[in-house]
Amino acid sequence: MTTSLCIRNVRPLGGEPTDILIRDGVFAAIGPDLAMGEEVETLDGGGRLLFPGLIDAHTHMDKTLLGLPWHRHTAGPTLLDKIEGERRLRREEGIDAHRQSTRHAERAIASGTTHIRSFSDIDTEWGLNGFHGLAQTREDLKDTVTIQIVAFPQSGMLVRPGTVELMEQALREGADVVGGLDPSTIDRDPVRHLDTIFGLAERYDVDVDVHLHEPGELGAFSVELIAERTKALGLQGRVVISHAFCLGGVDAARLDGLIALLLENDIAIMSHGPGGGRPAPPVWQLRESGVRLCAGNDGIRDAWGPLNRPEMLLRAYLLAYRNNFRRDEEIEAVIDIVTNGGASAMRLPDYGFAEGNAADLMLVDGETHVQAVVDQPTPWLVMKRGRVTAREGGLCT
Ligand SMILES: [Zn+2]
Repeated sequence: MTTSLCIRNVRPLGGEPTDILIRDGVFAAIGPDLAMGEEVETLDGGGRLLFPGLIDAHTHMDKTLLGLPWHRHTAGPTLLDKIEGERRLRREEGIDAHRQSTRHAERAIASGTTHIRSFSDIDTEWGLNGFHGLAQTREDLKDTVTIQIVAFPQSGMLVRPGTVELMEQALREGADVVGGLDPSTIDRDPVRHLDTIFGLAERYDVDVDVHLHEPGELGAFSVELIAERTKALGLQGRVVISHAFCLGGVDAARLDGLIALLLENDIAIMSHGPGGGRPAPPVWQLRESGVRLCAGNDGIRDAWGPLNRPEMLLRAYLLAYRNNFRRDEEIEAVIDIVTNGGASAMRLPDYGFAEGNAADLMLVDGETHVQAVVDQPTPWLVMKRGRVTAREGGLCT
């Protein structure tokens, strides 16, 4: 049995008002005044703004504290303080990764997100608990939100013998991506760290996503090592460097060289628009140079801090704010980053507002898409593969 729905009068970014016909979960036709037989259900879009489903290309669903009693944050200022604090919290409180990732997913779906790349902490204390809980959520919600899982050594890899074997186990059990973390500052052995990560990518034929907080020249060196391995293994188009703060902390000539490396190896950059005045990737310059960009919410109300939220429209606002964007074309670029940019980084085959693609979308009230980023309306309707998953901020599944 085919199921069809025609949504009349919606406004895509950069386009005239249009109707859309959704059949069997895909956009079957797009155009003004589509002629429909009586048997096709229709819905009046009321001239609302159409966004493709939003994409959170970097978050940590297995460790959010959403729905738990407020956690008073006392961790110190360094990365290691936060990593230690997180492991202590897990020891003392216990975190049910399945329950927590479900809570996270529900909030994301209600706010218009249709695809998520989530890291899953793997270490010798927590084992595969996070991965297993998140994999269960991925399965439970597979018709509602697409989740990619990154096997991620949050507490270090080489410094914790046994971690590589656990990551390998997660990849055997269906992790989609292999993750790395600050190869110099955490494992203190960048070549061996990256050789191990890329070796796993080759063996299990998965993409790579490296958290790189390392600043300035140290981070730039890591980018070079990542580019070398991407080239050696033919992984062009399959590697993301997340955060990449170093791109905002080197001089112009060094940055030009790094951009050339990113382009040559088709490496994408994820930025969440960090606060606190720390150097951040210059989003406009990277985009103008042709570097692929995506964005994510990073950890949502977890042991690292309470401020991040699961709404990607808010992340678009924060990324624009962090980059001092004011012109409409700049904010439109951010909308592209939280939609098409995420799809490119996650290599989604049938994403986007075009006939034949999956009908993943969000409709919101507003005058223009840019104005919606500023005003942050609650989505009127969210759809995943043509199924309504949320209406006016409430889940429908
Ligand atoms: Zn992260």
